[in-house]
Amino acid sequence: MLAHLLLEPGKIDYREVETPVPGPGEVVIRVATALTCGTDLKAFLRGHPKMPMPTLFGHEFAGDVAFAGKGVRGFREGDAVMAVPTAPCRSCYYCRHGQENLCVSIMDNMVLGAYAEYIRLPAAVVETNMYSKTSELAYTEAALLEPLSCVVHAIERLGVRPDDRVLIIGAGAISLLHVLVLKHLGVEQVMVLGRRQYRAQSAVDLGANVILACEPENAAAQILEATAGVGADVVIECTGQPTVWEQAIHYARRGGTVVLFGGCPSGTRVSFDTGRLHYDQITLMSPFHFTPRDVRTAYRLLGERRIDGRPLITGTYAFPELGEVLELLQRGEGIKYALVPPEA
Ligand SMILES: [Zn+2]
Ligand SMILES: [Zn+2]
Repeated sequence: MLAHLLLEPGKIDYREVETPVPGPGEVVIRVATALTCGTDLKAFLRGHPKMPMPTLFGHEFAGDVAFAGKGVRGFREGDAVMAVPTAPCRSCYYCRHGQENLCVSIMDNMVLGAYAEYIRLPAAVVETNMYSKTSELAYTEAALLEPLSCVVHAIERLGVRPDDRVLIIGAGAISLLHVLVLKHLGVEQVMVLGRRQYRAQSAVDLGANVILACEPENAAAQILEATAGVGADVVIECTGQPTVWEQAIHYARRGGTVVLFGGCPSGTRVSFDTGRLHYDQITLMSPFHFTPRDVRTAYRLLGERRIDGRPLITGTYAFPELGEVLELLQRGEGIKYALVPPEA
């Protein structure tokens, strides 16, 4: 089969590799759509600790079961499916305490290789985190299952109220997924803090109020103005930059909650004003990954068409064009791109 390999930072190669064969309980999916993700771009630009190179990459996908291994139940060859790239072990301490997102081996068996004709899913993923795709749902939207599961995980723990004023920092795909889920939950005032109008337009289209500001002081003033001088009930940080984590607590109201969603580069540190945290009773949350329950919720949101992920997909390209797509993303152009098999 043809697959993209990440050879070293900044270098990909689309080449012939061995087509995967499913072991017991495993399936091999014929990829119909793979979506770009911020993680892929980061791995492409500077490498990734969990992705020793050369490596297959791409982890957001949907497609059809091409080959099913021995003992696979509930799925047959030809079935249209959607899945996330990880599954918990179900037996470690964290799994037994309902925190499968923190499973000790959650990242060890992460499936990579969606930018390829075929991708193999381990038995644990097939059993726990793979679902049938209905024909009404496009493959491209179905491929949003993984990022949406992360967002569902964060918002479920938050227990947001419809009258909460929610500020989302950042205007990328993850921010927009937050907007979609919050709007679905009936949250009226969703604000998105961005820097550039052309990036923030999609947030406007999804019903968010956009605040444009490059300087934190300017942002804080505008947020106060938008919240009758109180501050946001909930702030969701989606940029993964330590300086923005630090600013985020200043945008929340007294008694507010700050969700530190965006993971920062490893080894970085932040410092917070202790008075602000304590005397203003700011709650910090730092959700990571998702549980099988979150995946099920995300699956329903997509499958029952409760949220419409189409505005997040900026364009569709054929697999061989991945290099050009990564260049677009490097220039900050577009939200997410769909990669599809070239027409035969
Ligand atoms: Zn992703
Ligand atoms: Zn576990």
